[in-house]
Amino acid sequence: MTTYSICLLPGDGIGPEITAEAVKVLGVIGKRHATEFTFAEALLGGIAIDETGSPLPEDTLVKAKAADAVLLAAIGGPKWDTTDPAKPRPEQGLLGIRKALELYANLRPVKLFPALLAASSLKPEYLEGVDMLIVRELTGGLYFGARDRETDVAGASSDGGPGMRAYDTMAYSEFEIERIARTAFEAARLRGCKVHSVDKANVLESSRLWREVVHRLHAVEFSDVELLDQLVDNTAMQLIRNPAQFDVVVTENMFGDILSDEASMLTGSLGMLASASLGDGTALYEPSHGSAPDIAGQGIANPLAMLLSVEMMLRYSFAMNDAADELAAAIEAVLADGWRTRDIADAETPAERIVGTVAMGGLVAERLVS
Ligand code: NAD
Repeated sequence: MTTYSICLLPGDGIGPEITAEAVKVLGVIGKRHATEFTFAEALLGGIAIDETGSPLPEDTLVKAKAADAVLLAAIGGPKWDTTDPAKPRPEQGLLGIRKALELYANLRPVKLFPALLAASSLKPEYLEGVDMLIVRELTGGLYFGARDRETDVAGASSDGGPGMRAYDTMAYSEFEIERIARTAFEAARLRGCKVHSVDKANVLESSRLWREVVHRLHAVEFSDVELLDQLVDNTAMQLIRNPAQFDVVVTENMFGDILSDEASMLTGSLGMLASASLGDGTALYEPSHGSAPDIAGQGIANPLAMLLSVEMMLRYSFAMNDAADELAAAIEAVLADGWRTRDIADAETPAERIVGTVAMGGLVAERLVS
């Protein structure tokens, strides 16, 4: 029997409710695939501040690093909102753990569930076949480059004084480009075997190096994967015009930040979006939504983004592709049968098909064994 250890970080708000459904479903998957999942629960975010004074206690880091994968639900809430820089904030826990685990690749799948077609703001005919993975570089580029403000010798400010200028720097090293490109090519081999590398090589030097390195790696190690270059402004347009053309999209930090938000809206619902952050060690999986404090404790949260994060964990950390496919198919079948949590229900959903968190998790678990 294979054993995998999972560090669970239920966090705040609806976090504990959706985590319970993930554990339930993993129990079923473990039995079907002769695998034992062991769980080490730890504190992160607001609850960690309440119990230890720190949003990322040392014990959490130790448990996360020792695990085969980390499954995080969500953190934060109005109780811990503060503008006092001296006070701890839940997000510090999230940023801290991503940094400590050296996670440099963020993967966000965007997949159309036919049953949820009406939830998108695009016309259905544009959405058929949408199933892509955005791979965003997470630790380089503009967000981490040198930045500053200085007096502008060339111009005055409108208030009569000397003007200021500000700059941010987009810098990438070859090793940073190569490792994110490798993540994208490897992910593509598990999917449609096609990578769009998105850059702004007609203007930016960092993009020209990006393109060079991606092509070199492709030629040496991944020539079986189709590689296409696309300029970022064109990608922004193509995501709306013909989103089904994409399989894997790999890009630098800021382009990825913007494009992944744009792409995530193709399918319409926050309760359905999963993500993975990968590095060279333990990876972290989490739904894209927050802790939904407005509905916490009511038993109505949608657990499907969390279950789709479990699907990614099975695929990327445990290489359990069959189990991941089964879980994806079970979720799709439950939706096709008309079951909805409140956030993905519409005017046409019959009241008896609208279920709570526990029932939705149960329906997916039942599907897995049927
Ligand atoms: P949110 O994602 O928590 O909620 C936005 C809206 O979507 C709410 O109406 C909520 O009820 C709904 N929603 C979200 N997830 C849902 C689910 N699974 N099922 C049903 N409905 C769902 O975003 P927000 O309200 O802007 O933020 C709330 C808190 O979450 C804040 O403290 C914020 O800082 C935090 N947050 C955390 C993360 C994270 O943990 N990664 C991400 C975003 C926001």
